[in-house]
Amino acid sequence: MGLNAANPDFTAFLTAKLPEGTIRQAEPRHLADPRGRWTGQAGPVALPRSVEEVALIVGACASASVGIVPWGGGTGLVGGQLLANGPLPLVLSLERMNRIRETYPEENMIVAEAGCTLQHVQQAAEGAGRLFPLTLASQGTCTIGGNLATNAGGVNVIRYGNARALCLGIEAVLGDGTIWRGLTRLRKDNAGYDLRDLMIGAEGTLGIITAAALVLHPKPARNAAALIAVPDPAAALTLLSIAQAQLPGMVSAFELISGVALDFLAETMPDIRQPFAAPPPWLVLVDLGLPDGLDAEQALIRLYETGAEKGLALDALLAQGEAQRAQFWALRENIPTANRRIGAVSSHDISLPLSEIPAFIPAAEKALAQFGPLRINCFGHLGDGNLHFNVFPPKGGHKDDHAGQRDAVKRLVHDMVAALGGSVAAEHGVGRFKTGDIARYADPGKLAAMRAVKAALDPMGILNPGAVLAP
Ligand SMILES: Cc1cc2nc3c(=O)[nH]c(=O)nc-3n(C[C@H](O)[C@H](O)[C@H](O)COP(=O)(O)OP(=O)(O)OC[C@H]3O[C@@H](n4cnc5c(N)ncnc54)[C@H](O)[C@@H]3O)c2cc1C
Repeated sequence: MGLNAANPDFTAFLTAKLPEGTIRQAEPRHLADPRGRWTGQAGPVALPRSVEEVALIVGACASASVGIVPWGGGTGLVGGQLLANGPLPLVLSLERMNRIRETYPEENMIVAEAGCTLQHVQQAAEGAGRLFPLTLASQGTCTIGGNLATNAGGVNVIRYGNARALCLGIEAVLGDGTIWRGLTRLRKDNAGYDLRDLMIGAEGTLGIITAAALVLHPKPARNAAALIAVPDPAAALTLLSIAQAQLPGMVSAFELISGVALDFLAETMPDIRQPFAAPPPWLVLVDLGLPDGLDAEQALIRLYETGAEKGLALDALLAQGEAQRAQFWALRENIPTANRRIGAVSSHDISLPLSEIPAFIPAAEKALAQFGPLRINCFGHLGDGNLHFNVFPPKGGHKDDHAGQRDAVKRLVHDMVAALGGSVAAEHGVGRFKTGDIARYADPGKLAAMRAVKAALDPMGILNPGAVLAP
């Protein structure tokens, strides 16, 4: 079904129906990709303040067959919030729906509007003496609506799960403008299909999330972190099992970092202090959240010593206080910036069954050698099986010199991941950049069911057209 452009008549119609200032011209930030890979296009941008206003906007778009691109903080990395071509859509920004509606500390629950930034929710939880554990480098800008729409992961999934595991209920507007008031505070509710789980990870293709009931956790009494040098990813994985056995439920993050990542940091950000005098082949960043009464330093020393006895740990640095813990995290969080400065030939956000990881990394490196001396920076959330397996030109080279190899490199990596039962859209979602990958690798039964769900919930096809499912 063809869509119409959000033309001046339609814009004037909506402007007259809504409070002043709700319908505006799109600003550059509404159309910019965080990595500068493409630019979106839009007719007007709508900035509603209530679910009723969202319903009115969606209903009007459905009647006029105008596409809607939902927009949270614009930090998505797969182009889901940007439509580059086709009839001009309306961009629906939730940024003015940014209130914390209720906090229930005794229920470990908070109700936040979709446009609250992740940091705002974290701070509100902190104010209630609780923890909202979703943690992403983009947390000052990304929104809860965007986090749920992409089922965001981040560094604490190993302990607390991804966005889906942190959501009890959702309020959303469906494709015909119907409001679904699903802000349940219940942890047990088997009364029919779970629409919440359909909305989460749908990237705005099944409904506009306007608010969510979110799960809080008790705050650990203290946090502690260590950088542990390891010989290879297999050792890192065994060390993870040891950590989980020694400290059940207390490992908040377990990040794998390649020696190449340290080289890239040295090359592009020489001011960052290298952690080890002798650069290790691999390292892990272990972060613990401990209850009262447990000695953090002793726990990390025991982990290191057990690993060292088994040849799994080569060296270790224990953070001496919060400032050094933050330095360790800065090292990890600067890796994407270093990658951007070097410029990737092809980047891959993949996940694998955990036990396949140690064999996958060297096998993929070996297979990629056919393209010449490319450099591979592999890092990620090891405990979740989620790797960022990114391929770069040789030192001194430029990514554009390898543009002709990009598709073949991507195909090789993704084929290997698929053959091992992995996913080629692990953490960032499908958006518009990966619709071809989903068409290639997703189970045909799943794809057919996804199309049927989309047709049922968005019969006019107005919700984020072209995202997740290619037309
Ligand atoms: C520096 C950096 C680090 C990052 N680290 C991580 C990470 O560790 N883990 C991770 O998972 N992601 C990460 N991301 C990706 C990104 O931050 C997340 O995908 C985030 O959840 C997107 O939120 P947003 O509000 O910016 O959404 P946007 O970018 O605005 O939108 C993302 C998608 O959600 C849809 N959408 C937005 N709001 C709504 C809504 N209210 N209802 C329905 N659909 C909606 C959009 O249409 C789009 O398809 C990172 C990004 C950056 C720039």
